[in-house]
Amino acid sequence: MLKEQVAHVADEVLNPFAIAQAQLDEAAEILQLDPEMHVFLREPMREFHFTIPVRMDDGRTQVYRGYRVQYNDARGPAKGGIRFHPDETIDTIRALAAWMTWKTAVVDIPLGGAKGGVICDPRFLSATELERLSRGYMRQIARYVGITKDVPAPDVYTNPQIMAWMMDEYQVLTGHQEPGVITGKPLEIGGAAGREDATARGGIYTVREAAKVLDIDLVGQRAAIQGYGNAGQFAHLLATELLGLKVVAVSDSRGGIYNAAGLDVTAVRNHKAETGSVINFREADNISNEELLELPVMVLFPSALENVITQRNADNIHATIVAELANGPTTPAADEVLYDKGIYVLPDFLCNAGGVTVSYFEMVQNAYQYYWDEAMTQQRLDQKMTAAFHAVHNMAQIKHVNNRVAAYLVAVNRVAQATRLRGWV
Ligand code: GLU
Repeated sequence: MLKEQVAHVADEVLNPFAIAQAQLDEAAEILQLDPEMHVFLREPMREFHFTIPVRMDDGRTQVYRGYRVQYNDARGPAKGGIRFHPDETIDTIRALAAWMTWKTAVVDIPLGGAKGGVICDPRFLSATELERLSRGYMRQIARYVGITKDVPAPDVYTNPQIMAWMMDEYQVLTGHQEPGVITGKPLEIGGAAGREDATARGGIYTVREAAKVLDIDLVGQRAAIQGYGNAGQFAHLLATELLGLKVVAVSDSRGGIYNAAGLDVTAVRNHKAETGSVINFREADNISNEELLELPVMVLFPSALENVITQRNADNIHATIVAELANGPTTPAADEVLYDKGIYVLPDFLCNAGGVTVSYFEMVQNAYQYYWDEAMTQQRLDQKMTAAFHAVHNMAQIKHVNNRVAAYLVAVNRVAQATRLRGWV
């Protein structure tokens, strides 16, 4: 074989949608899913592609590209976040929408899966430009969303303020109040108490359950967190508070920091708020994202973007538990390596399902205009995450497969059943 061909063969497929489809294919084979159902579940049911012209502060018009993918709504209205990111692609959104479908199914909430995105870099937009972009996005999708169709939420680089603008724009367009059209809103206008830390909290509950089945005492053990957005920051806080873990390393897109004695969450958060990054924190040494991933720790939390654990570094991962708060952080080839090494992976659409679970609670509260306190949310979230964890863990034991395949078996079964009952396939 030519040298280039060898390189090509060794190259891993990193297209997130190709990965999502390959994961489904593996599950379909084990489930002996009928071929027609398999074909149907392999593609999004519908997608919307559009332009968003935005008047910038200097008077120019900048045209952005936006997308919304409704992957599957057999189990209920489609659900999933909106990502604002410069590297956004339609295939990333398709993959994220597929994973939302399996996510809502694995925690057994009556919703389907969707995802949206805009190719943009919000770090270079002023607050007024960001508001016009957010309202422009809602103008393009308003006719396709709503509590009976599809309900967006935050994702990477979108936040409660953006949800508030989008909800308001929807009201401007429709002329009626419908707070449940979008979740992850600020508390003052229909947000749910406990939504902010829900993704991390749900993941922490699954780590707690994993430690029980693995018979591990987590107190005082080391943890590392890759990514320091909403999920990563709350994972730092809650890993410490709820599990007694010692977080020795954290990172963001600019690099990581390490202190063997542990990192104080408030001090690191303040440092990031002041400087824009966790790096150069005075009580730690700078390390790279790659070094962070390879640290010997009890729990590693990939909490940023896709494809960080690949066939290139999988063999160097030294964590006992990998808790995937990010979507799609591990490639299929890396999955096999981690499984062979005996690393216990809490797969993304199980581990990070706490966010959408509390989004669902937010929709329920919006519908009857009566709000729960945080304790009630946390207790109900715990029930959902604990049940989902054990469904997946038991499936993995029975079928002798890794946890990701097991999560697919649980989720795909449920979506296929709904699809069949509706008579679609
Ligand atoms: N973006 C989050 C996720 O990937 C939350 C989605 C939601 O709340 O609808 O799960």
